[in-house]
Parts: sequence; C-alpha cells; structure tokens
Amino acid sequence: MSFTEFQFHPKINAGIAACGYTNPTPIQNEAIPPILAGRDILGLAQTGTGKTAAFVLPLLQRLIEGPRKKVRALIVAPTRELAEQIHGNIGMMAKETGLKSVVIYGGVSKLPQIRAIRAGVEIVVACPGRLLDLLNEKAVTLSTVEVLVLDEADHMFDKGFLPDIRRIIRQMPMKRQSMVFSATMPREIRHLVEEILRNPETVQINHTLPAPTISHILFQVAKEQKTSLLKSIIQEREMASTLIFTRTKHKAKNLALYLQKAGYSAASLQGNLSQQKRQQALDGFRNGTFKILVATDIAARGIDVLGISHVINYDVPDTAEAYTHRTGRTGRASRTGQAFTFASQEDSKMISLIEHNLGKRMLRESTSALACEAEEDVREEKKERFSRLMPKRKKSAAAGSGGKSQRSRTCSFDFGISKTVQR
Ligand code: AMP
Repeated sequence: MSFTEFQFHPKINAGIAACGYTNPTPIQNEAIPPILAGRDILGLAQTGTGKTAAFVLPLLQRLIEGPRKKVRALIVAPTRELAEQIHGNIGMMAKETGLKSVVIYGGVSKLPQIRAIRAGVEIVVACPGRLLDLLNEKAVTLSTVEVLVLDEADHMFDKGFLPDIRRIIRQMPMKRQSMVFSATMPREIRHLVEEILRNPETVQINHTLPAPTISHILFQVAKEQKTSLLKSIIQEREMASTLIFTRTKHKAKNLALYLQKAGYSAASLQGNLSQQKRQQALDGFRNGTFKILVATDIAARGIDVLGISHVINYDVPDTAEAYTHRTGRTGRASRTGQAFTFASQEDSKMISLIEHNLGKRMLRESTSALACEAEEDVREEKKERFSRLMPKRKKSAAAGSGGKSQRSRTCSFDFGISKTVQR
C-alpha cells in the first residue's frame, strides 16, 4: 500500500514527501481510512509505530477545508517532549497547507503561547495542566473543537491527569470526532474510553519502530565475501530465528538454496513464489520449521512474526526508512534483537543516512577473522571440487600446494582492515 491510495490533498502529500515517508506504517494503514471516514478510534500502539502521522494526516485532510483561525482540533499529550514532537511533526506535514498549530505546556512563560493562540491557530497541542490554566483565564476556548486526540493515555493516567482530562473534555462540544491512543489498557483508561469514544474502531499494533531493544551492528565487508561472512556468523552465534534481506528476488532464492545445501533450515520469500509456497515459507518460519527466512523488502511487507532474534541486511536497504522497517521486525514486544548489516564501500552514503536516522552510530564489528576463515573454506571447497575433477596424481599435487596445515597468510579488505591469521 502506498500513501497515494488515501487520496490526501496534494498539499498534504507534499508534507508526506517532505517527511521522507514513502509507504505507510502498519498503524497508518489501519487507522487512516476509518479516521478519514469520521470514525472514533481506539489505537493500541506505542510511540515509534508512526502513530503521530496516523492521526495527524487525516486530521489535516479534514481541516484543510472549513474555517481558519479557530481551534478546530485539540491533541492532548502527557509530557512536553511528546507535545513538542507532535507539534514539530504537524509543522512538517502541514507546511504547505497553511494550517497552524500551537504547543502549550507548563514550566515556561504563558505569553508566547497566548500570543500564538491570538494570532490564530487551527490545532492546539497541549499538556493538561497549562491548558486548564489557559482555559480558566479564557485565553483559549474549545467550543469550536471538532476533533480530540488523547495521546499516550496510559501515561496520563500514571501521571494522575485523568481528572484534568475530564475537566477539559467538558469544555468541548459533544458532537466531535475523538481518538484515544494508548500502549496499554488499564481499567481506568477503559472507563475513560467508554465515556468519550462512540462506537470506536480499535486499531492494535504491537511493535515499535525503531525498537529501542535492538542492537545495530555493522560489518564492513567486500561484496564477494558476504556469503562466507554470513555462513561464519550463523555458525558462530546462537540465532534462534533469523530474517535475511536481499535486494533482489533472485538473490533471495539463491541464498536460501545455498543455506539449505549447507545444512540449515532455510526458506526464501520472494515475488516469484506461488501463494501456496509463500504461505508455506511464512508458516514454517512462524512455527520454527525454518530458522532462517531470506526475503526481499516487498515480499516481507506485512510479515508479523514475534520472536525474530536477528535481522541480517545481506544487502543494505535502499532507504533509511526501509532499514527501520526491516530491523523493526526484531526486538518486538520488548524482546531484544540484533540487526546485522553487511556493507561494502559503495554503501557508505546509505550507512550515514541510516545512522543519522537512528541518531547513533552502529557498532562496528571486525570481519577480518570471520571472513578470512570463510574465505579459507571457500578456497578449500574450490580445491576439493577441482581435485575431484583431476586425475589421481594431479589431485595429490593440488592438495600439497596449500592444505589447512599450512594456513598462515594475510587477509586485507577494502576497508583497510587487515589481519594475519596463523593456525
Ligand atoms: P511516532 O510513532 O509517530 O513517534 O513515529 C516514529 C518514527 O517513525 C518517527 O521518526 C517518524 O518520523 C517515523 N515515521 C512515521 N511514519 C513513517 C513512515 N510512513 N515511513 C517512515 N517513517 C515513518
């Protein structure tokens, strides 16, 4: 699914492009259509799922028509950081629409907030305490609000904000569209939801992106050594369930075949498979029959398998967003996960973009020892294959020219990593 299918106003599409989003996240796919249809929403999702855009984009679509310079939407958040983040996202997504938001929270001067409201805004993003202050002072009115969003409702409850929320809601028209987002659903939030939502559509997304429980590890490796490196990594580490991404379907298929031949329970998931084969691969991966699934980005879209311990980017993804989507498949539901990325020198630009998006550098792991070993194995294999084809006397000559006992040499790589292996 792509954003074009929602048929947003071109000015909103411009905002989506400015944010660098190409495809909707699962919660966006699920929540945007009912919100556009005017339904109330109960969203069970954490921050990190893309939920802000899930409610902001259809909200903008509604507000782009109709009166300006009136408070038509209220978004309530429990912390100033979240309020700022939502306000910042609106700024990007609404840039071309002329719609304006103001952010309101305590601990700073009220004056700039009051001035911004007076200048005319359509969206207020607020923390409950300061909003109540401004309501009491009549610096803002909620009588024209058409849409209410309560974000991170469970945190509001933790912080004791529910009485404030009820006071705020009493100042709004009864006829409105309401949405509540919450990662968990304690009894108190369920009561609140029953009070304020009418016939809501429930949207539940269990994973985050990017999950904070994932470690990101980079292997700098020459292209032709990737398969050997992969084999070494799989041999050396405990990997319960591994999803490997390749750029092409051809490579996904061949890599899965290679791993099967090497004795691993692997399958591929790529566009050339029949629906039945695709289902078999997915079911097998889900139930543990296949420990390894090799997939392309397109084929892997929508894979929802809990308990993936490792994601391996055999090929670096084409965009930073694709990296987040790929690696978001491990570390779900608070489990820890590892994301390994194999990068050759030509990938360095994309790696910088990914790291910028992650907000940190990936951990660099040395490939030297592993790759040297793997390279050695490949040589051994080639030699064996060669000697099988050779007549008897040539076979012994070939074996004598470099058996395992004589290993002592230097491996050097494109990235200047070099290591002498002596055994
Ligand atoms: P949120 O859950 O709203 O805090 O979003 C988490 C992160 O995902 C933010 O960095 C967003 O910019 C990003 N994001 C939201 N929607 C998309 C999308 N469709 N494609 C890529 N990244 C997205």
